[in-house]
Amino acid sequence: MSGATRPPEELVRLPGHAMATALHAREVSSRELTEAHLAVAERQNPALNAWLTLDRDGALAAADEADRRLAAAGSEAGAAGTAGAPGIGDLHPLFGLPVALKDLVSMAGGQCTAGSRILSGYVAPYDAHITERLRALGAVILGKTNMDEFAMGSSTEHSAFGPTANPWALGRVPGGSSGGSATAVAAYHAPFSIGTDTGGSIRQPAALTGIVGLKPTYGRVSRYGIVAFASSLDQIGPFGRDVRDAAALLHAVAGRDARDSTSAPIPVPDELLALPDDEKAAGSLRGKRLGLPREYFVAGMEPGVEARVREAVAALEAAGATVEEVSLPHTDYGLATYYIVAPAEASANLARYDGIRYGPRRGEGDTLGNYLRTRGEGFGAEVKRRIMLGTYALSAGYYDAYYLKAQKVRTLIKADFDTLFDAGFDALVAPTSPTVAFPFGARMADPVSMYLSDACTLPVNMAGLPGLSIPCGLSDGLPVGLQLIGPAWSELELFRLGRGYEAITADADWRRLEPAELVLADDPATPSPMERVAAGAAR
Ligand code: GLN
Repeated sequence: MSGATRPPEELVRLPGHAMATALHAREVSSRELTEAHLAVAERQNPALNAWLTLDRDGALAAADEADRRLAAAGSEAGAAGTAGAPGIGDLHPLFGLPVALKDLVSMAGGQCTAGSRILSGYVAPYDAHITERLRALGAVILGKTNMDEFAMGSSTEHSAFGPTANPWALGRVPGGSSGGSATAVAAYHAPFSIGTDTGGSIRQPAALTGIVGLKPTYGRVSRYGIVAFASSLDQIGPFGRDVRDAAALLHAVAGRDARDSTSAPIPVPDELLALPDDEKAAGSLRGKRLGLPREYFVAGMEPGVEARVREAVAALEAAGATVEEVSLPHTDYGLATYYIVAPAEASANLARYDGIRYGPRRGEGDTLGNYLRTRGEGFGAEVKRRIMLGTYALSAGYYDAYYLKAQKVRTLIKADFDTLFDAGFDALVAPTSPTVAFPFGARMADPVSMYLSDACTLPVNMAGLPGLSIPCGLSDGLPVGLQLIGPAWSELELFRLGRGYEAITADADWRRLEPAELVLADDPATPSPMERVAAGAAR
């Protein structure tokens, strides 16, 4: 195998689809790919804190199994190999390739902390649906990534296990709550990772770390085995460094699962694995009708972010798309209603962490005393804030005024989108985040300023729609994300549009840039994110 002739640094920089091609051509083994990624991840994790666990043994065992299956595989699609093994062409593009899971996805026998002290020491007794799917198609799960506690946050600073650093600037956040998964992919620790998005937690960190992230339509991916935050909003979705890789990971995990009654019996298109090449993708933008919602250019948006988004819009127009300014009049209520509905559902979902069924129990007093102490010590400040907000909004006398009212406004938010898609718009184009990555500590003292990070993503969750974030350049040397929002079940169309944008910007200078502080992340003398935050607090 010639894989040994390629240095690990080069292997990990290949797109996932190129890794698959090399693997199928037997130019590299799954073990070589896995070793290369583990080496980079282990070396850089002290500086980045992207991973809560790296499962070296489990990953190498899965890689060896993939290599055995590959050796037995027939040489073509449909052509069975020895002992009825499938042909190489029948293997899923994720076969034998490394994947990272956010630490709220259950993996039998492994930890699943959801970023919380209250779940430290808990061992998941079963696999989540998506874990089963990934294992069955032969993917190599490298480990579990850092996140805001119970996915509440926009910076990964609310993790009980310390923040994650952004590889573009180690003193800045990678976004959140799926910041560990985003950093792992941006820093070449894995070509693929899984996040969850309740109000923006895939798209916003994708934007802030310069990668691709998709929040699928509500119901596209089974939530079985995922730690719940707000059940009517949570969706699992993919990160990748390019559109093709993100689409392949969605294909791997999407589809109906009887164990999640909200997962939809809607076919998952195989075209997700056959996105067009540059020429076709660029051509397909011609005649697309895109809406530019004026409310998404919110107050507080950084001029550099607005400039990149408007340049992207101009590029799409130059490629033959028509872009019309449109209005989503209820956008302003997105934040207020989200912060009623999400905490209300969270307060119910988090009631199960009582020190009896999960994790460590604190205190030796009466049942109520143990309960209060376990929850008092187990949950962080942001989670407690949400439980209080949610419990209040659901309490007798306030339910109608808050929760019920918020659900009604939610219907209006969804109707705004429906009106535009019914009028024939193929998709909406918007910024993903109003700002680039911000410094550690910048929004920790003011919860509302943290909540505003998701002003452009929350309404999409409220409406249950799919949203894709793709990189569209840099502002002040930091990545900016372009958001494409489509009607329900339009993921394939969004990925095609994203591919089109990739194609027309394939020669842009910024596409050749790497996260600027990866070199520092390699240096063992570089402080950890925890040390940086402590030093900042001491100042
Ligand atoms: N930042 C939002 C929140 O804190 C969204 C988080 C998410 O999508 N999980 O609730």
